[in-house]
Amino acid sequence: MTPRKASAAVAAVAPAVAPLGAHISTAGGVLNAPARADEIGATAMQLFTKQANRWAEHDVEPATAVAFRAAIAGSGVRFTNAHDSYLINLASPEPELRAKSIASFAAELRRCHALGLDALVSHPGNFMDERASGIARNADGIVQALEQEVGPTRLLMELTAGQGTVIGSTFEEMADLLGRIPATLRKRVGVCLDTAHVFGAGYDLTNDCAGVFTKFDDVLGLDQLGLLHLNDSKVPLGSHKDRHELIGVGLIGEGAFRAIMTDPRLATIPKVLETPKGDDMVTNDRAMLSLLRSFSSPNRTTAGRRKSRS
Ligand SMILES: [Zn+2]
Ligand SMILES: [Zn+2]
Repeated sequence: MTPRKASAAVAAVAPAVAPLGAHISTAGGVLNAPARADEIGATAMQLFTKQANRWAEHDVEPATAVAFRAAIAGSGVRFTNAHDSYLINLASPEPELRAKSIASFAAELRRCHALGLDALVSHPGNFMDERASGIARNADGIVQALEQEVGPTRLLMELTAGQGTVIGSTFEEMADLLGRIPATLRKRVGVCLDTAHVFGAGYDLTNDCAGVFTKFDDVLGLDQLGLLHLNDSKVPLGSHKDRHELIGVGLIGEGAFRAIMTDPRLATIPKVLETPKGDDMVTNDRAMLSLLRSFSSPNRTTAGRRKSRS
């Protein structure tokens, strides 16, 4: 409880700007991540709590949990989230894979609770056989894990690009998935919007960024939006593919990110980059964060309407 009180106190002092950061390497252990976040000037931090492409699970040692919370409290990071393993498929029709996925997903949640993370981002699964039953299986897997692992971390289901048989590439289908979670557990679940994924799914952020978020609000409700993944895209609108690119370099283009950074509806939503790191893990992320900050800088107030004041 103490770290949560501490972060609430920090938020009360500086509520104006939403946490902004990147996916941070945990090479050598999670305790190394907060200093790496500080090194790029991040105030939000996403990490993996295990090797994302392996099934092997572990629980967080109590001493590690204490040290991690202390390291976060001593860093500039105000929002923390994990991203779950890419192997998990809660929608699978194959009983063995699904059982393995539910156990692995529960372990992800357990580690997040232990570390006191604000959120866990999870991809909806692949239905493989038939869409409607896949959505039902996915929802049921989420429910089982949430019932088993109770704690402070909010689950955020990430909108997908819609490759193959993956669930959750439209706002409507995400609403359908979340609507199957009973009300008592529903409060513990929200949505993560990845700009590269929704662009791949066919939402035109380039020409109507504000409209995409209005649509999100109409279908899901902006109160459900717990996190933004800010990524430009190497692949075109509606390609149903997911290839991240540096902000302003890809096919979404700088304008959409400028719009996101200045949209008052998104002002309090934490934002995390998952853009290519380059060689040294620092240079690109620093440049991306400073570019994004320049979009929302005071420039806007001087260029903006004087007349609105009178
Ligand atoms: Zn993801
Ligand atoms: Zn993402």
